[in-house]
Amino acid sequence: TPVTIIFTVIGVIAIVALVTVAVLQNRPLPQKYKYGIVLDAGSSHTALYIYEWPAEKDNNTGRVEQTHSCKVKGPGISSYASVPRKAGESLSECMQEARQRVPEKRHSETPLYLGATAGMRLLNLENSLASDKVFQAVEEALQKFPFSFQGARILSGQEEGAFGWVTVNYLDDRLKQSLETRGALDLGGASTQISFVSDDFDGSESPDNGVAFRLYGNDYNLYTHSFLCYGKDQALRMTLAKQTQSGPVSISDPCFNPGYIETKNYSIVYDSPCVSNMKPQGAPATFTHTGKGNFSQCQEVVKRNFNFKQCKYSQCSFNGVFQPRLQGPFGAFSAYYFVMNFLNLADTSIPLEAVTEKLSRYCATPWNQIKQQHPGVKLKYLAEYCFSGTYIITLLTEGYNFTSQNYPNIKFIKKIKGSDAGWTLGYMLNLTNMIPAEAPDSPPLPHA
Ligand code: AMP
Repeated sequence: TPVTIIFTVIGVIAIVALVTVAVLQNRPLPQKYKYGIVLDAGSSHTALYIYEWPAEKDNNTGRVEQTHSCKVKGPGISSYASVPRKAGESLSECMQEARQRVPEKRHSETPLYLGATAGMRLLNLENSLASDKVFQAVEEALQKFPFSFQGARILSGQEEGAFGWVTVNYLDDRLKQSLETRGALDLGGASTQISFVSDDFDGSESPDNGVAFRLYGNDYNLYTHSFLCYGKDQALRMTLAKQTQSGPVSISDPCFNPGYIETKNYSIVYDSPCVSNMKPQGAPATFTHTGKGNFSQCQEVVKRNFNFKQCKYSQCSFNGVFQPRLQGPFGAFSAYYFVMNFLNLADTSIPLEAVTEKLSRYCATPWNQIKQQHPGVKLKYLAEYCFSGTYIITLLTEGYNFTSQNYPNIKFIKKIKGSDAGWTLGYMLNLTNMIPAEAPDSPPLPHA
């Protein structure tokens, strides 16, 4: 009857209303997040990272996550030495993106940091006035944004290495749970870092390589070293310098694919403090750079960049730098990952012997064929993968003494749980005191 229908409808409405009220009452409050922004001013490019964490739980491990990254168009800030204003301008697109991504009401409390690494270390060595001007321009540009700008500065190689290690172990959740830590291998364009904990190392044999942390109640004596000029772009310059020392008009380079041919400017190749003292006198303006694609010959040339002669410690990696016994698993990121991933060698269950074999075959592949097989890849990167792969294997085995036994302990990684591996997260965690340490051995490293 109509009456029954009316009562049924009323009943259904009442149930729906009751359920809605119950659901609404139990609905969690909207999550409140805090944010932090770090700009990584690398030698070849700048990247912006936005991190977020629940507002009430700053101190929990594994809670800070990267929510966004933005790659700044154009080269690294050190390349703007002669037009500093443009270094500042180059950042504005990514900064505007950040302004949109971080909720407006959080803007004024969101810390913003810019850290520069080896590109600016080199510019500072070469021309400190120019480096100051770049920083001035960059600071002016960043101050225009509504965030809490905390300054722009050059990180020391030690900081770069140590914060990369903190990032990896924080994201892996190894710190809070007192698990064995993972070493960090970072390859940039201008420098390279190695950082790990070794039972052999308490900092006494070479204090410059020691960083002491107390994190979540655990003490860590981290070994870290940064090799300036041993990033892959500067290492390539050094390798080219070794082959052009007599100022020839052409070279046949084993580190480039056969059929590769380019005319290069002496002044551009030698325009870096890593090689400027090797520049041949009376060389022509240009040389013809041709490839002959031979892995073992390339490795021989690359090896000449490492000095194994003097070591005043119990053991060294190269150039007289102390290095304790390698220990534990390692994560290798930045250019290590880009290169090994491109070469399909990121999987380290491939034995080292098979890696060198594959690399030999890659290097010997004609340049035309390489170009045809990888139409979407930037030619500059593409031309350099034989060199870069050879450099990485040589650095790891001859430089740091990895062997076929412990090579599988290395994992080539880009991200861990959605956040990029690199120094930026560790840097921000440190400066915002987000990793608790009762009675820290050393105060947090200052930002400015
Ligand atoms: P940096 O700018 O100092 O952080 O160095 C980054 C390094 O990674 C530079 O040597 C870049 O040339 C290199 N790089 C970035 N992306 C790629 C890629 N897709 N393939 C090869 N190398 C890359």
